[in-house]
Amino acid sequence: MTTEEMQKNIEKVFKERFGGEGTIYASAGRINLIGEHTDYNGGFVFPGAIDKVIMADIRPNGYEKVRVFSIDINQYAEFGLLEEDAPKESWARYIFGICREIQKRGGVVKGFDAVFAGNVPLGAGLSSSAALESCFAFALNDLFNGNKIDKFELAKIGQSTEHNYCGVNCGIMDQFASVFGREGNLMRLDCRSMEYEYFPFSPKGYSLVLVDSRVKHELADSPYNRRRESCERVAKALGVETLRDATMEALDKIKSDITAEDYFRAKYVIEEKQRVLDVCEALVRNDYETVGKKMYETHNGLSKDYEVSCEELDFLNDLARELGVTGSRIMGGGFGGCTINLVRNDLHNRFIEEVVARFNDRYGHEPKIYDVVISDGARKVKENGEEVKADKEL
Ligand code: ADP
Ligand code: MG
Repeated sequence: MTTEEMQKNIEKVFKERFGGEGTIYASAGRINLIGEHTDYNGGFVFPGAIDKVIMADIRPNGYEKVRVFSIDINQYAEFGLLEEDAPKESWARYIFGICREIQKRGGVVKGFDAVFAGNVPLGAGLSSSAALESCFAFALNDLFNGNKIDKFELAKIGQSTEHNYCGVNCGIMDQFASVFGREGNLMRLDCRSMEYEYFPFSPKGYSLVLVDSRVKHELADSPYNRRRESCERVAKALGVETLRDATMEALDKIKSDITAEDYFRAKYVIEEKQRVLDVCEALVRNDYETVGKKMYETHNGLSKDYEVSCEELDFLNDLARELGVTGSRIMGGGFGGCTINLVRNDLHNRFIEEVVARFNDRYGHEPKIYDVVISDGARKVKENGEEVKADKEL
């Protein structure tokens, strides 16, 4: 379903359920071009919002009650605005959490009616949950708070919702990207200072293609925590707060004092920090070949040094290389999920055909393919029956 069709449907369902019309808001899922496992090391991430969104039609109802209908799940939920009113439906808890986190910060939330739907694939690594949170956070800021809550706080409201109401201990990147996303721009977020900068990303002649392996290897020994511990140990040995402040020279000097495993974990993190900076420079030069090269280097590092890949993801990466794809790497934490691919347009169809067929041959199921375009994040779409024009200023 296109976003336009989705919007029409949301308006129709809103009219049937609540009568009349509300204000329409949307926020986006996200990709991360490069900068993986860098956030907890005080490094950089480089996300962008995509053309897949959660969209909601919302109208204050004059009660102290939220009434919300999810089109995709075909479920209705109703809840009050006090802590003890938490709904049991997991999808509604995202919305309840946003309401509560705004109130906890001294913001205003009153009762409202809402109908929402989305085309961000759920659980595919594109952060549909952040899109849902950012859509409602942005909307409630506009409807009840005169947009006084700043955008970074909106992202934090989404993050706190995941922590406090959904049991997901996530970082800030997904909500940040969903709130701040701009068409044709990626954002380099410094996870130490929380400063960010927009970089142009309009790859003429290339597109971004996600290949979702649809596998998720649950490993028993919490590899994520073990990676974090390695990084912390090496930072301590180097006398720095995080590996953000480490260099390869310094790491090589203490090589004999640390385990080989810790050495390679830290090596990946230090190199990845530099790769993000290199990609930003390349984008300013419009040099997408270098961007692609760095993506392969990241995959290699994640696979060989950080050891968070798996057979299926390495297979997809090898295949991309063999087919002449410009750049390809694991996106997300690893052990399954997606690869993100920078593909020349003349190769696009052949790439998808070959990947689907050959992955299926080997693993007995087809991967899912998502074409994504870097697009706007949280926004107002329609108000008083009028489409709202996007504000293109940065
Ligand atoms: P993701 O990686 O996509 O963020 P999560 O498990 O974090 O995966 O979030 C997915 C959850 O977000 C769903 O289980 C659901 O509760 C909620 N959600 C996302 N998109 C929708 C939607 N279109 N309609 C209803 N709920 C949604
Ligand atoms: Mg999520």
